[in-house]
Amino acid sequence: MRYIDAGKIENILERGKKPPRGAIDEAISKSLALKRLSLEETSFLLNSRREEDVRRIFDAAALVKKRIYGDRVVLFAPLYINNICANNCVYCAFRRDNNIMSRRRLSPEEIASETVSLLKAGHKRLLVVSSESADDSEAEADFFTGAIRTIYEQEYMKSRIRRVNINCAPLSAEGFRALKLSGIGTYQLFQETYHDDTYRKAHPSGPKSDPDRRISAIDTAFEGGIDDVGIGVLFGLYDHRFEVLALLSHVEHLEKKFGVGPHTISVPRIEPALGTDISDTTPHKVSDDDFRKLVAVLRLSVPYTGIILSTREEPEMRDELFRLGVSQVSAASSTAPGGYSTGNDPESGGQFVLQDHRSLDEIVSRLIGQGSVPSFCTACYRKARTGQAFMDLARPGTIKGKCGMNALVTLKEYLDDFASPEVREKGYRLIARMKDSLDDDEKKMLEKFMRNIESGMRDEYV
Ligand code: SAM
Ligand code: SF4
Repeated sequence: MRYIDAGKIENILERGKKPPRGAIDEAISKSLALKRLSLEETSFLLNSRREEDVRRIFDAAALVKKRIYGDRVVLFAPLYINNICANNCVYCAFRRDNNIMSRRRLSPEEIASETVSLLKAGHKRLLVVSSESADDSEAEADFFTGAIRTIYEQEYMKSRIRRVNINCAPLSAEGFRALKLSGIGTYQLFQETYHDDTYRKAHPSGPKSDPDRRISAIDTAFEGGIDDVGIGVLFGLYDHRFEVLALLSHVEHLEKKFGVGPHTISVPRIEPALGTDISDTTPHKVSDDDFRKLVAVLRLSVPYTGIILSTREEPEMRDELFRLGVSQVSAASSTAPGGYSTGNDPESGGQFVLQDHRSLDEIVSRLIGQGSVPSFCTACYRKARTGQAFMDLARPGTIKGKCGMNALVTLKEYLDDFASPEVREKGYRLIARMKDSLDDDEKKMLEKFMRNIESGMRDEYV
């Protein structure tokens, strides 16, 4: 597969099993200084088995997360707009040959209605998700840009969606340019597996069956003017340690060619899906222990990159992973086109079975309970802090000052407009506690924002 040297990765993994004395400590110290780790250093951490080492990796991941992003966890919801698919990915309920799946491509009216349902819950940030309908990149790009326009146009009680990200099949550079112009934030595309043979078996037909087309799509997105990208692995298809190192090779390629790495890394694990037995036959199932470790190692390896977790994971696991490095999380999700209006029944068009069914209010409550600040912030995109500009702030950890303030401001908006009375009280107490830790200038700024919100102003940010 292009950009991935499988032989080199296998060798590094083998050497990682016997780290030289002090190598794990050195890797951890380098990461605590917020420097990206090499493949070798990452391999030492991934291979570590001693309880004491793993505990130190977890503690360091929590610290790095705090140093870069502070206490905030950004919340978003996926909005599935299409499940008619030309591909046959063996793990996905949307695959073409799955004839027990009901299919839908949402009309603009349906997209509007889904958006309003999400606005009513309090969401400000959406991830548009779509299957790959056809080979016609231009028609696909038109469908996506139309959907994005519709989403931005919706309003509920003066609240609008402030940022739309998208996870969709590769487009031409022109198609990506159109997406960028429509106002998307991050373009997300998961390689699923970086192991060539496994990739070909898991994607037997359709445009997605070519692994090189897939991995080059992120380059094409950059060429189309998108400088904010998200990558990911579908864990379970191949050995997770190989996948982590290959994903880092992909990061190295992007940094070398475009000067910036991915803004986000997603870590889905395969879930049961209608019309596929993949979850029972998952060839390289990642245990909960390995999963915790791989998230923590990713946090240490690429300290500046956001890590995204979806509702594929169970509540307890999600709660733990917030601490270990996850910085963005989906909440109260449906993976069926039209699911927010019709209810989330997998048999009525969902992509896979979700494990976390809590409402947005419950997740906000839980995050507050564990000392995290739920955030609906979208400021970076709107202040053009993307690509290089974002990395310049994220790499040294200076972004957290802005993240922290914006998190408190958007939380206050959520509490005033959408939260249940109980969560509102909890949230106010958290804001008061967080204020105590600010310096005098920041305190004054926060007080001003709070007064403005109380007098009806919305959507302020730094
Ligand atoms: N169709 C586009 C594609 O494949 O790139 C984009 C959207 S696809 C609906 C989003 C992601 O869902 C895929 O990239 C894959 O990683 C994930 N996915 C598919 N089936 C899954 C399953 N059974 N469990 C967990 N994640 C799954
Ligand atoms: Fe289609 Fe994406 Fe599902 Fe593959 S993962 S079948 S491309 S929706």
